[in-house]
Amino acid sequence: MSIKQTVILASMMMTGLLLGIRQLGGLQILELAAFDHLVRLQADAGPDPRLLIVGITEDDLQQQQQWPLSDLTLAQVLQKLQKAQAKVIGLDIYRNIPHPPGREMLLKELQKPNVVTITNLGDAKTQGVAPISGLPPEQIGFNDFVVDPDGVVRRNFIYAYDGEEKFYSFALRLSLKYLANRGVTLKVTPDALYLGKTRFPAISSDAGSYHNVDSTGYQVLIAYRSAENVAQKISLNDILQDKFDPNLVKNKVVLIGTVAPSLKDLFFTPYSATKSTSPGVSGVTLHTQLVSQILSTIVDDRPLFWFWPEWAEILWMWVWALIGGILVWRLQHPLALGIAGIFSLTVLCGICLSIFTQYGWIPLLPPALTFLTTAVCVMAYKQWQIALYDSLTRLPNRSLFLKYLQAAINRSKLGRNNCFALLFLDIDRFKVINESLTHYVGDQFLINFSQRLSSCIGCKGIIARVGGDEFAILLENISETSFANSIADQLQKQMTSPFKINGQEIFTSISIGIAFNQIQLEHQPEDMLRDAHTAMYLAKDLGKARHEVFAVGMHTQVVRRFQLETDLRRAILQQEFFLYYQPIVSLENHQIVGFEALLRWKHPQNGFISPVEFIPIAEETGLIIPLGQWILEAACSQLSSWQSQFPQEPPLMMSVNISGQQLSQPDLVEYIQKVLQKTGLDGTSLKLEITESVAMKNVETAITIMLQLRTLNIRLSIDDFGTGYSSLSYLHRFPVNTLKIDRSFVSRMGETNEDAAIVRTIIMLSHTLGMNVIAEGVETITQQDQLQLLGCEYGQGYFYSQPLDSEAATKLLKSQCTGKNEEPEMGDGVDFS
Ligand code: C2E
Ligand code: CA
Ligand code: CA
Repeated sequence: MSIKQTVILASMMMTGLLLGIRQLGGLQILELAAFDHLVRLQADAGPDPRLLIVGITEDDLQQQQQWPLSDLTLAQVLQKLQKAQAKVIGLDIYRNIPHPPGREMLLKELQKPNVVTITNLGDAKTQGVAPISGLPPEQIGFNDFVVDPDGVVRRNFIYAYDGEEKFYSFALRLSLKYLANRGVTLKVTPDALYLGKTRFPAISSDAGSYHNVDSTGYQVLIAYRSAENVAQKISLNDILQDKFDPNLVKNKVVLIGTVAPSLKDLFFTPYSATKSTSPGVSGVTLHTQLVSQILSTIVDDRPLFWFWPEWAEILWMWVWALIGGILVWRLQHPLALGIAGIFSLTVLCGICLSIFTQYGWIPLLPPALTFLTTAVCVMAYKQWQIALYDSLTRLPNRSLFLKYLQAAINRSKLGRNNCFALLFLDIDRFKVINESLTHYVGDQFLINFSQRLSSCIGCKGIIARVGGDEFAILLENISETSFANSIADQLQKQMTSPFKINGQEIFTSISIGIAFNQIQLEHQPEDMLRDAHTAMYLAKDLGKARHEVFAVGMHTQVVRRFQLETDLRRAILQQEFFLYYQPIVSLENHQIVGFEALLRWKHPQNGFISPVEFIPIAEETGLIIPLGQWILEAACSQLSSWQSQFPQEPPLMMSVNISGQQLSQPDLVEYIQKVLQKTGLDGTSLKLEITESVAMKNVETAITIMLQLRTLNIRLSIDDFGTGYSSLSYLHRFPVNTLKIDRSFVSRMGETNEDAAIVRTIIMLSHTLGMNVIAEGVETITQQDQLQLLGCEYGQGYFYSQPLDSEAATKLLKSQCTGKNEEPEMGDGVDFS
């Protein structure tokens, strides 16, 4: 699944999940808390100038010395307010039971048409309170509040109709009386109230972020005017003692009720949560708030709260889920992600707040949660992908592949069809593609390669990218091992057709190593992968573009090679190399005519390592170039010092071995010339040994280079002659001075007549072509005598001396000079054969 699909899926899932939680009411408390917070952020509109509260305070209670207050006291208050020309008076104090004295007087006051009293409808739990009998219905309003599950009053319950009876709230009655002279009347439709032309749509049970709240009757969300001062307040005693400015009362809606906390007529509002002392507001204050809302809506055109339909809320949540997912998908850096996350949530809060100032209540917490949960989901998926899949090719990575492999191993132990194969693929010369055509092309190539691989394998196996240009394939339930081989064949064939990248054709080949499981063995997945890798390495070694099946023993061989390669690089830096010199002797007079320089590597842990082992690696890795230059310089400077120390005629010579790689170096001739100049040697003293197989590999170029070298008067010799199948037709074209008979012929000379015949033929042939002959590997006096009889000019071998370090070789030359025919100490030489 792509990350894009994941983002969409995760956003849908998280939206669905949170919708479910929300539907069950799981988010309501939090959403309401957010609502309250937004309410508190709104500006305080201050006291409503149309309203006045006559509050019964603790002081009033103390002065009156009586609770409930007597009917007489209340009647006096009403009289005073009427006298001050209050427009409407609301008495938020129950008077269904008489509290003498003054009942008659109170009833008279209450019957005045601008006075409204309360009743309580009650609910399933509480019994209501009946109104005072005998009063006209338009002077009675219910004082019931609807309280949210968290105890906070957020809704203004205005009106209800139960099929028989109509119920007006206290606030509605007061408002209608206040607005009567403006001709505002109440009209009721199934979904809204109309006060004059102003529409009060009744909220549904899931308006805004409510869920299944009791939406009985007609309710609107309260737009609180002020935390405390919804209207001016005066105390009861101030009224009774006429200690008030009549202008405070004139033409106003005056609500009378208790504000003394001790009477416990308290309700929670959105402001309550932040108030430490007396968090509630009194009932009369709340009623004043409700009246204020109704009046403001009609008179001041203050809007009512509005909500989105359910589908818009779902869409809103989903959009934020998508944003969260996309952010995680697009942003890699944790800091960038953190900043973007905080920024997005701030934007969300900002949008909700600014809509709230326009009286829109849209979900805040649910989109924040879908945003966060989707982000977490996508992040987890991404981490999981990173941990188990390759980001470039989307194939399983090494660690996931090892898990598949482990599962295959476990299955193979249970099932009947239990053979499986592991193919390890490596792209030949991928490094060249990458370095010469840029890494971008390299990446595109890998993608195309993996696609071709997938289409080739199909559902036959599992493919993984286990390294830069390394892929592994697991083929399970194979009936015979040849199946794996045929798959390898197919793959190799498929990969020969070129890859087109950026209009460029790229040709490649692959090397494959195959390992099969062995039921009797306790396999570890890593071991199997290593075995297949070993076999692949061997396939590469044997010429690339082929496959090899793993066999026991391959591993140690490969490991040693790898180790040598790393050690070799270090050895050059640490100067662990030095030269040994093996004398070449004239068979005629047994005098030393020269030496062959032989390279030695003293490994700090493993001691001496044979050049037979490390020269091929040095050639493969290109290390032979710097190494060869060092050899040439060291051998030449040694010869130069010997020539001045032991002058003789002809002068001593030095044979230096040249590898195939060195021979194809374009600046070889110039370089040798420089070395000769630097050491003051004559070209005739230096002999380069080129093995027959190297010379025969590319005859024409070899001849060209040889001719160039000959311009420096350098001597040339064909080394290991007889082992390289050189055709006689070529031999005469090689401008060489010497043939070195391979020591295998020399050593068998005494044993078989054939070998003796070969040696004789080589000597005759070289003489015919004007070359002289050195016999390698002379170990006995018999061999020496035989060679002498055949007319061979020179001999080299343990019979004369093992290769010696420079000190021992100097000693040997000295003894020859003084005429003492001292035998060289055999212990000085080091035998690598
Ligand atoms: P090569 O050029 O044929 O060198 C002769 C090898 O035969 C040397 O082995 C030498 O120690 C060994 N040898 C000499 N006399 C006898 C004998 O009487 N009996 C036996 N059994 N062996 C004898 P070494 O030094 O191990 O060198 C092996 C090969 O490594 C050389 O074969 C040469 O191909 C390569 N090599 C050595 N030094 C260099 C070098 O400086 N550059 C290059 N390119 N290759 C080198
Ligand atoms: Ca040699
Ligand atoms: Ca040789």
